[in-house]
Amino acid sequence: MSIPLVDLKQQYAALRPQMQSAMQRVLENTAFILGPEVQRFEEHFADYCHAKHAVGVASGTAALDLSLRAVGVGRGDEVITTPFTFVATAEMVANLGAKPIFVDIDPETYDIDPDAIESAVTPRTKAIIPVHLFGQPADMDHINEIARRHHLWVIEDAAQAHGAEYKGQRTGTLGDIACYSFYPSKNLGAYGDGGAVVTDDDALTEKVRLLRHHGSSDRYHHQILGLGERLDSMQAAILDVKLPYLDAWNEGRRQAASRYNHLFANSPVVTPAEHPDVRHVYHCYVVRTPDREAVTRALSAAGIGYGIHYPLPLHLQPAFAYLGYGEGDFPISEACAREVISLPMFPEISAEQQNKVAATVLGALS
Ligand SMILES: *Cc1c(COP(=O)(O)O)cnc(C)c1O
Repeated sequence: MSIPLVDLKQQYAALRPQMQSAMQRVLENTAFILGPEVQRFEEHFADYCHAKHAVGVASGTAALDLSLRAVGVGRGDEVITTPFTFVATAEMVANLGAKPIFVDIDPETYDIDPDAIESAVTPRTKAIIPVHLFGQPADMDHINEIARRHHLWVIEDAAQAHGAEYKGQRTGTLGDIACYSFYPSKNLGAYGDGGAVVTDDDALTEKVRLLRHHGSSDRYHHQILGLGERLDSMQAAILDVKLPYLDAWNEGRRQAASRYNHLFANSPVVTPAEHPDVRHVYHCYVVRTPDREAVTRALSAAGIGYGIHYPLPLHLQPAFAYLGYGEGDFPISEACAREVISLPMFPEISAEQQNKVAATVLGALS
């Protein structure tokens, strides 16, 4: 019996009738781009985040691009972020002609280290992008305090943290503006690409709404130059069917994480550390082991899926070579990149599946 890293089939099977009728409705209505389906989902998702506004966009990448543009990041600006993340976080900064400034991470939470942010601030710094990596919110009080003191924008990359909480408050309202991805395997996933920008700020919302749709609020009249980065109605309808289940799915992930923690207790496997201030939603269940090669070989042989998030930190990627960073600049990120393994994690994972994963990992290390 093989075990996938992520199993999207069980979730679809459980939602099939509702999903098919929602999709049928979109097909009959033929309002395929924006329209009432998108508006309805935006309202529901803003409510879910306890935020004032959500704007549906084409992807998490688009959410980052539009948020950066909305706060005015451009040529010559610096944006501080983590090198231990998916490339889009820094890629969108660089595409706007701004410079990503990397700082190292906390080895326990894998999130950006606020103490390192402070010393990276310069007169050119415009924003900080904390990434709530693997579903665990970053140290937001500390980050917001630095941002306030230096007049910087805080853009949450919440692509892996739908419904995660920091001191009882959900992601989406922990900074000035937040970016979500609905890539199919995310905690809330579409059946294609999708994303959202969430904020309490009316002016930023208006700016993102214009930017996602060619600077236009009135057909064929363009107030500013924008992009074509809208959420489509089919994805909005699909997401709206799924949203009411998100809390239960996150709870399923948390229970699975706790079961794994128990199975790996008193072993050489380093399990995820959940900071007491947060509610982690385990987009990924990431462990570190003394011998990754042996573990991944054993998992493959047993037909068990795994991921490496991420094998090469961004400061060592060829695409960012022009920034001039080198090996040894961010030793914690580099060590994590060498050691991390993401084990199968999805809300429906069974105890038997988890037992088999743990036995395989521990067997490889014994
Ligand atoms: C998935 C992800 C993105 C990009 O989202 P897409 O919807 O794939 O464009 C950005 N940042 C992080 C941290 C992600 O995990």
